[in-house]
Amino acid sequence: MKTLAFFDTKEYDKTYFEALKEKHGIHIRYFEDKLSAETVSLAEGADAVCVFVNDDINKAVIERLYQMGVRVIALRCAGYNNVDFKAAYGKIHVVRVPAYSPYAVAEYTMALLLAVNRKVHKSYIRTRDFNFSLNRLVGFDLHGKTVGIIGTGKIGQIFANICKGFGMHILAYDVYPNDSLGLNYVSLEELCEKADIISLHCPLTESTKHLINKNTLSKMKDGVYIVNTSRGALIDTEALLDAIRTRKVGGAALDVYEEETDIFFEDFSDSFIGDDTLSLLLSMPNVIVSSHQAFLTNEALENIADVTYENLDAFFAGETLKNEICYHCQKSGGHCSRKEKGRCF
Ligand code: NAD
Repeated sequence: MKTLAFFDTKEYDKTYFEALKEKHGIHIRYFEDKLSAETVSLAEGADAVCVFVNDDINKAVIERLYQMGVRVIALRCAGYNNVDFKAAYGKIHVVRVPAYSPYAVAEYTMALLLAVNRKVHKSYIRTRDFNFSLNRLVGFDLHGKTVGIIGTGKIGQIFANICKGFGMHILAYDVYPNDSLGLNYVSLEELCEKADIISLHCPLTESTKHLINKNTLSKMKDGVYIVNTSRGALIDTEALLDAIRTRKVGGAALDVYEEETDIFFEDFSDSFIGDDTLSLLLSMPNVIVSSHQAFLTNEALENIADVTYENLDAFFAGETLKNEICYHCQKSGGHCSRKEKGRCF
């Protein structure tokens, strides 16, 4: 029986992975710690490791895993910005769950946009305190507004359809425009200039880091709303804070934050987070921050467990790894020339 070292375990992960384990014959050792150079030794004796968005799969971690005999890393997520693919190439195969439920993320994106615009986060707290005043709860109709969608992959497309249902105009920007979607693709500059709301759905890469920065913000409409359910570092948070202070940005809904790694998914209600930028964001009435929860539906968790097991079964059976991602795929936007047995190397 193969052994899987499972890092950054939460109760809900365990529930869904345990439910399917009989079918796959994989023994799982669960660890609450995130994978890092300090914790990698926990994987000693394991055949594979399973990680999530905030584990740090850097060069040192990869070298150590390789020395221990680990030949596959299973990401139980779609995003992969936390992996040093260059270091892994030729040594350890990296598989992921490319689409566990793009609906979960797209629907949550609309939930956040509605909440921040219609101030649901404020009214919820008010009525719990028997305050039924409507002062300062005025929002705007989404109908007729222009939403700029950056990244029109699986999630961006579904979000575009949801927005169409609300009667919104859509402007799209993608480095690989998909003409079959019938979307109005424009340059990033035009999208920034014309959108009332901007929603981010592209991956975090070297070229998208701080895509929303002082310069792009300066081109946006006054009072623009920004929604980020993709990755925190797509936004230069300090520049966003300044733009909120000067009212350039009218509202921000953030499910991700560039310094989230040691904070999100944990309970600090009884202590101190020590992150002044995040504290400031949380104190702003027109900002909603949630803790990277856009993916969190039953359907998504079931699919994550299912596809992760499938990926591992395929690896151990020597079969094609349809969900493998490597240095080359990542660099070329998914166009890797697969080698023997349908694997990246
Ligand atoms: P996807 O790969 O299907 O689509 C990404 C799109 O972004 C592609 O069309 C790609 O061409 C485009 N893109 C790449 N570089 C770009 C650039 N520089 N500018 C504009 N567009 C660019 O991915 P997806 O499944 O739609 O997921 C999108 C992102 O959502 C993921 O990368 C991940 O970071 C994030 N995500 C967040 C959560 C959450 O819980 N908050 C869950 C899943 C995914």
